[in-house]
Amino acid sequence: SKDTGRNKVTLFNKSMQDELSRSAEILEVLRHAIENHEVFLMYQPQVSIISKEIIGYEALMRIQSKTLGILSPTEFIPIAEDSGLIVDLGAWALREACQFTKNLIDESGVPVTVSVNISSIQLNRAGFFTTLADVLDQTELPPECLELEITESSLLYSMYDAATLFKNFQTLGVKIALDDFGTGYSSLNYLTKMPINTLKIDKSFIDNIAANKKDTYIAETIIRLAHNLNIHVIAEGVEDNNQLDILEQYKCDRIQGYLFSKPLNSKDIRLYLEG
Ligand code: C2E
Ligand code: CA
Ligand code: CA
Ligand code: CA
Repeated sequence: SKDTGRNKVTLFNKSMQDELSRSAEILEVLRHAIENHEVFLMYQPQVSIISKEIIGYEALMRIQSKTLGILSPTEFIPIAEDSGLIVDLGAWALREACQFTKNLIDESGVPVTVSVNISSIQLNRAGFFTTLADVLDQTELPPECLELEITESSLLYSMYDAATLFKNFQTLGVKIALDDFGTGYSSLNYLTKMPINTLKIDKSFIDNIAANKKDTYIAETIIRLAHNLNIHVIAEGVEDNNQLDILEQYKCDRIQGYLFSKPLNSKDIRLYLEG
């Protein structure tokens, strides 16, 4: 067309349209996947920085769709949250991760821990505590083998309510990790006021930890601060030995990242655990 201004508007509308129809498509796939058992979990090893042996893993959700292939959670989790489907999906993931881990512990004799991501939408539903208690009861996973990964930015609760909720979780015996630490804005308050077992340093801090002195200092300070508060530290997204060296130097407790392993399917995590 001769009218470039109009073309721009058309293009803009088209990309918005594309995004909308992609979201609608994913929502459709999500509904279908839940009904047809096309949702599954991958497990990424977390290793001890001292022994370099696996002490646990994080459960990461995937969808195997016939039409769209394997879907990434970065794409479908926000849609699951907006639609409310995350409540059932998250409960399913929690149960699946706990049952899988209970079986693995029984077979291997190794007391691994499983870390499960909990969405703010799940957390803010009154039924979540009951779901958690039911899952522990029914799967018979030792509660201390379960760690809930909760992002600080997802704590819509007042600090007081969130602290009460976390204490209730800990009454059950489960552990709590503050996920994506450093990306929110409330960090220090949470560390002193909330009962937190583990702090997970976000990958964005780890990326330049070896290349950028300021990032090195930040990591050192976070680790020291957490340890002084009796909180364990795990680094996510560790990809090379330079990063590992620094994390070893500052005595970070646990490491997760491609340097050791990508997320594995249920068969391969068994093999990894058996060494
Ligand atoms: P997250 O909780 O921060 O999980 C870590 C992400 O970093 C995972 O991506 C993992 O595969 C990736 N990762 C780990 N190590 C490395 C590394 O060394 N290099 C790089 N480049 N990436 C690494 P994934 O599996 O795509 O998950 C993305 C996000 O989706 C998660 O971020 C989490 O926020 C969300 N998510 C995944 N599973 C669930 C779930 O079951 N429930 C909820 N609510 N959210 C989930
Ligand atoms: Ca996580
Ligand atoms: Ca039972
Ligand atoms: Ca992260």
